[in-house]
Amino acid sequence: MRQFMTHSNKPIIALTSTTQAASTKVLPAPTPLTYHIVRSKRKTMVVHVQHEQVQVRAPHFVSDAQIADFVGKHTQWITRKLSEKAQHDSQRLRLQDNAKIFYKGKSLRLRLFVRTLEAIEVTDTELHIFAKRIDERSVAAVLQRWLMAQAKAVLPQRTRALAAHLNADTKLKDVVFRKTKSKWGHCTSSGRIQFNWLIMLAPDAIIDYMICHEVSHLLVMNHSAKFWALVESVCPDYRVYVRWLRKHEHRLWI
Ligand SMILES: [Zn+2]
Repeated sequence: MRQFMTHSNKPIIALTSTTQAASTKVLPAPTPLTYHIVRSKRKTMVVHVQHEQVQVRAPHFVSDAQIADFVGKHTQWITRKLSEKAQHDSQRLRLQDNAKIFYKGKSLRLRLFVRTLEAIEVTDTELHIFAKRIDERSVAAVLQRWLMAQAKAVLPQRTRALAAHLNADTKLKDVVFRKTKSKWGHCTSSGRIQFNWLIMLAPDAIIDYMICHEVSHLLVMNHSAKFWALVESVCPDYRVYVRWLRKHEHRLWI
């Protein structure tokens, strides 16, 4: 049986594990493609592209030739993923002078200035950060304070209003902020909604979609059809926003 997954966020298996054997192969021309093989007790083959590396996870009983054949069949997908990853990496937010920052759906030039009075100013084409020191940590701290202030001004109030609209206000206990590595929002079974303040870099429609998503979890905890129907009832264009996030969210992380 062969299996092909087009996406995965699972971490790469540690190569030191005793149940696995690893080796590296290069697929012959026309496009030499380097890939790493990790064998384990699994029953199917799967290919992952992570951190600009191609990894094939395969069962022990599959030969190297079969793996090469499997990789060959999926070369197009792998090549596309590799260029996507390279593009994502080049678009990643770097807090450096003259870098690009994707703010409210617009690519702006980031300018960094030394000033005692910290501030952020946005023009049509540029985002200026005034910080006491120009190093990545100090600049990130100024940006965090600015986004957090916006998050506090907007998110709890809109979240409570929507919860009330859906008759879920008694279920909503708290709105908190936290920067996590992979999530924009989270809703616990006890009714605590958590937002990543970096979402304030996104366009307002995306922020509203995030609020709809998390508030809907107060009533439906999973991602079932019932959940998406509820999201759609308050955010009819939600599919557009889900697609936007899939396409652009990598540009907002620091
Ligand atoms: Zn969710």
